Amino acid sequence: MEGMTSTAVSVPMPSIPRKRRSPEEIAAAAEVEGPRRVLLAAPRGYCAGVDRAVIAVEKALEHYGPPVYVRKQIVHNLHVVGTLEEKGAIFVEETDEVPEGALVIFSAHGVSPAVVKSADDRGLRTIDATCPLVTKVHREAVRFARDGNEILLVGHEGHEEVEGTYGEAPDHTTIVNNPAEARTVQVRDPDKLIWLSQTTLSVDETMEIVSILRERFPKLQDPPSDDICYATSNRQAAIKKISPQADLVIVVGSANSSNSVRLMEVALEYGAKASYRVDFANEVDESWFEGVSTIGLTSGASVPEVLVREVLALLAEYGYADVEEVVTAEEDILFSLPKELRATLKEKGDVSRGLGGRGSRPNR
Ligand code: SF4
Repeated sequence: MEGMTSTAVSVPMPSIPRKRRSPEEIAAAAEVEGPRRVLLAAPRGYCAGVDRAVIAVEKALEHYGPPVYVRKQIVHNLHVVGTLEEKGAIFVEETDEVPEGALVIFSAHGVSPAVVKSADDRGLRTIDATCPLVTKVHREAVRFARDGNEILLVGHEGHEEVEGTYGEAPDHTTIVNNPAEARTVQVRDPDKLIWLSQTTLSVDETMEIVSILRERFPKLQDPPSDDICYATSNRQAAIKKISPQADLVIVVGSANSSNSVRLMEVALEYGAKASYRVDFANEVDESWFEGVSTIGLTSGASVPEVLVREVLALLAEYGYADVEEVVTAEEDILFSLPKELRATLKEKGDVSRGLGGRGSRPNR
């Protein structure tokens, strides 16, 4: 989810406006073996970190009034960003676009210390909506660098989260993007080496990268706990289970959402015959249905459930009305809202969203 400017974004509404062939025409054009059905992945959609970040912006708008500035997209989803813009949030690329003294929220992906300093220097009021699981990786980077270790950060260079983590210890950190880089990366001291990772990577590809690194550097240390977060792992596990049975997997999520794009890749690796990503139901192409009996459906961690419901409604129109939810894990993680906001909510007697996180409201 790189890149939002203060320019308004045009966000298509989650509806199904496209003129399409009738389901009968589709059926006549496509020979389908077996009944048409949808396997709906669970868990899918909003994670606790995304929910918390979105609530933080909503609560800031409610209690401080617009405009509320947000550095980068609060979460990588077009619909969420567009909806918050309509309510008065202004998305900027950098803090120097924010008027002095104004309020700025840091996105769920986290920021480097340099960004915090630049906001301080400009006298900005800040709310840090960095996901606590990203903050955990930042702390690991600081600690291991302080102890004299070199960090191999497995992640995608240019992604905001990786920029933030890298910025915690730039002199001690090298980014490893892929297996090819794992084969060639050079280190200063192979005896003082640890790997950390972006939270939203493919679990399998990360393990492949780490095994290449370990072969080259046997003393490579593991992080104290998994950096790839529970939401990323759970969504991948659910689509892995569905994919071998799926003629087609549809992932709802934005193009800049790392975990959504990974879901599409994982679906193909695990046997889906085809996989596509859409932001909205109106992007689903009816030609994808040809010869398709079973459709797998999931959504990335920044995707509100309403967008999945729209796709389900569309699929039902085409005869895929039989929906079976495939549940591979239950999630009940809650994160407190950012501390700067909690103080204000307490002062104003607002207890409606004190906790934040998925359990505090339905997955919209
Ligand atoms: S995907 Fe994981 S790391 Fe990212 S916001 Fe959600 S819980 Fe946090």
